Amino acid sequence: MKKPLREFDDLDHELIDSLVRILSTMLQIKGKVIVADREQMISLYYSHLSKKEQEKELVELDYIFGSTFPEDRVMYLNPRLCKRSYQSLIETTIHELLHIKYPTYTEDQIQKLERSLTGRYDYIIKKDLPKSGKEMRTCKVINFD
Ligand SMILES: [Zn+2]
Repeated sequence: MKKPLREFDDLDHELIDSLVRILSTMLQIKGKVIVADREQMISLYYSHLSKKEQEKELVELDYIFGSTFPEDRVMYLNPRLCKRSYQSLIETTIHELLHIKYPTYTEDQIQKLERSLTGRYDYIIKKDLPKSGKEMRTCKVINFD
């Protein structure tokens, strides 16, 4: 399970910051959206968990494309799947921003909206996994290719 860690570099961060700012503005999201990395996600949301449970969350953060805590306007993007994979990066960012814009929408509703905004229909999104602790939206994009 231990792979070399793939991280966003300065160029990626510049792209992500612009994307999040522009797409949030277009979606009329009020307030600033924060993009957190793995370590920040752990300290923000999993510090109350045991080391073993934190390890489990870290493994999951490496597996999912992204996740969101809509009430905090905090999103996570997985560098392993989104770095230099611009299609995944843009679509995951849109997906997570839609969760922030419409916090009560189901995964199906978000997926429908995402498709109407991106024009892509060739993949499905797996539903949330059961979560321990605070409610989190976990999104997995499964490609059909
Ligand atoms: Zn989702």
